[in-house]
Amino acid sequence: MISPWALIPNLTLPRELFCKPGALAALEGLGGKRVALVTGGSSLKASGALDRARQLLERGGGKVVMESVVAKEPSEPDVRPLAEQARQLEPDWIVGIGGGSVLDAAKAMWVWYEQPEVTLAAIAKPHSLPPLRKKARLALVPTTSGSGSECSPALTLNGAQGAKQVIVSRELTPDVAILDAQLAATMPPAVTAFTGIDAFTHAQEAYVSPLATSIVKTLAVSALRALLEFLPRAYAHGDDLEARERIHVAASLAGLAQASASTGLTHALAHALGARTGKPHGLLNAAFLVPVARFNAADGARGRYDALAKDLGLASADALIEEEGRLLEKLDLAGALSAVLPAASRNGDEALAAAALQDPCARTNPRRVNDAKALAGWLQTLGAS
Ligand SMILES: [Zn+2]
Repeated sequence: MISPWALIPNLTLPRELFCKPGALAALEGLGGKRVALVTGGSSLKASGALDRARQLLERGGGKVVMESVVAKEPSEPDVRPLAEQARQLEPDWIVGIGGGSVLDAAKAMWVWYEQPEVTLAAIAKPHSLPPLRKKARLALVPTTSGSGSECSPALTLNGAQGAKQVIVSRELTPDVAILDAQLAATMPPAVTAFTGIDAFTHAQEAYVSPLATSIVKTLAVSALRALLEFLPRAYAHGDDLEARERIHVAASLAGLAQASASTGLTHALAHALGARTGKPHGLLNAAFLVPVARFNAADGARGRYDALAKDLGLASADALIEEEGRLLEKLDLAGALSAVLPAASRNGDEALAAAALQDPCARTNPRRVNDAKALAGWLQTLGAS
């Protein structure tokens, strides 16, 4: 009998990828007759990009039949009414333009527009989502350089008590991804830093994941090289379009690596602490990136970090971890740990550790973690340092 594992693709890609300055213009050729636009609102409107997207769609013969602004970190109750509206208005394309939350909301709206009966619990198992594309297709346009959702087969929603619910299915890989770095050039420095470190963490955790394949490592190394060089430039000079372009592409590559090999303990902790504090996902990753790399490299997984260091032209795992520390300094994120940790784990927080261990990302950490008490003790040492 064939193992179900053999049937899971290592990589799924959008059918079409537009990746050049001004790539937003590709919306004109989408061919949609009735378009549902999903956006995050104000900054897109202020920059004029939303008007331009609408004009392009209309010039291409489409009509924007619904326009939805979604909240940050949406949950099922935020998205269900949009799907219901879509069922009445019957769009043939869904176009999501915004940060990672917006792109994921567009995916979730698409799922319930096409498959209203489906519950999150029923599609929790990877690749169990019934077929989409009976009613509409999906185009995604990221305006931050972070989540990689525009190319990935995954969506994340906020669940009960803020816990993350992740759905993975090849059906969710968008039909079209439009990478136009000019749209990301208006990101303020803090958002550039948070989303960029999120992308960095995706690439690093995917590379050292037990699920990493050679293609994952190739994608991850390419993303990490670009982020090490160009993220500080984009942070310091938002109008540096070369840097914007490089980190925009790097975030998509990192997203592909993450979609294939998942992430690890940094993300598990970021999800658990994010549910409790509501702090930005990228800031939480910035807080745990170096401590988790040290923790993993200290026992069992050192070879994986040494291999990554070598692929990046660095001497060893230690040199890599030092380089990451310098990157965080350049992004003014060296104090991220003390900004997020004291409230949570000054006394060793077993509930936080247990929540992190419940997160699916903990299962693909290269160093086995399964003891909440031990993890809480480790968190306490971080709080004390
Ligand atoms: Zn992330």
